[in-house]
Amino acid sequence: MKLNDLPQNFVDDLVAIRRDIHANPELAYEEVRTSKLVAEKLRSCGVDEVHTGIAKTGLVGVIRGKRSGGTIGLRADMDALPMQEKNSFLHASNRAKVMHACGHDGHTTMLLGAAQYLAATRNFAGTVHLIFQPAEEGGAGGDLMVKEGLFDRFDCDRIFAVHNRPDLPIGKWGTRAGPFMASADSFTIEITGKGGHAARPHLVCDPVVVAATVALAMQSIVSRNVSPLECAVVGISAIEGGNLPAFAVVPDTVKMTGTVRTYDTATQDLIEARMGELVAGICDAHRAKGTLQFTRLYPPVINTAAEVEFARLAAAEVWGEENANANYTPSMGGEDFSFMLQKRPGCYSVIGQGTGGEIIPIHNTRYDFCDAIIPNGVRYFSRLAERGLPL
Ligand SMILES: [Zn+2]
Ligand SMILES: [Zn+2]
Repeated sequence: MKLNDLPQNFVDDLVAIRRDIHANPELAYEEVRTSKLVAEKLRSCGVDEVHTGIAKTGLVGVIRGKRSGGTIGLRADMDALPMQEKNSFLHASNRAKVMHACGHDGHTTMLLGAAQYLAATRNFAGTVHLIFQPAEEGGAGGDLMVKEGLFDRFDCDRIFAVHNRPDLPIGKWGTRAGPFMASADSFTIEITGKGGHAARPHLVCDPVVVAATVALAMQSIVSRNVSPLECAVVGISAIEGGNLPAFAVVPDTVKMTGTVRTYDTATQDLIEARMGELVAGICDAHRAKGTLQFTRLYPPVINTAAEVEFARLAAAEVWGEENANANYTPSMGGEDFSFMLQKRPGCYSVIGQGTGGEIIPIHNTRYDFCDAIIPNGVRYFSRLAERGLPL
């Protein structure tokens, strides 16, 4: 098999696999069918070892090269999202309220393609570890794999992963050294006052007014406390309090939830501290009670400089020098490959899948992974292994 001239039936098979996974999406830690499909494909293409049941549904395939040498880890995610697909094509989700709206079906397929190529050719010295992780969408499957000894069992000198980007044209690849994606934290604020008749405000402690004051004050953290040279998001995404038809009932409590995004721990610490001070101070001033629950979900994705340059060279071979951008704009999105990058040097990058028409973003009910980018995804993963473990 030649990488720059992949057989049509090989590509067709991969497209069929991608559509099969898309039609049968599974939520975090429930990727039983997908995990079984991946294990079967890995075994049938002659991968040396397949280890299942890591972080529940995660698995690792091992391919040894023609000679011994170093190690490399290539990672794909397998989970779908709890949302209803609105596409009507043949491979649309056949499960209610579960959908591959982030293209993890495509990531899994591209890594399966690379597995097939690498197992058939083995033009490398050393060991390739193919990491298929569960639960990227909020379930921290990457973290659980690391905690269950991923790198103790399958050592990786360096690690690589990709994500599709509908807003980046097909044929373009991007990454950058240092922070590439943000930490993703969640918080819940509960404000308790004293409910009662809205016409007698002097007899109640109105948590709605306190919540509104807290929500506005939160906006001062990024604008007034965080350095203007740092990147940060503090966003309240939902407020819940009272019952809508009850126009004259002041509720006892109001709850709010939202997210915080940063690139470094110092800014993260500062924001959490300021949120706590604002909630406590404002509630105190209004004679209400406030609690803040702050949960650090995913750390930021920090790419190491040497691996970014190494990945850029592989990407330049696949997409062309002018299309491999190692100075790509970072984002405040989260990604749990960050847990693996805390343990091993590596590079997370994005592959364009924009066709020039309407951009349907990831996590949209009409999103679909673009099959046309599968061959280059296979080439990229494969060249990372061959370049990283030269004969
Ligand atoms: Zn996603
Ligand atoms: Zn994703």
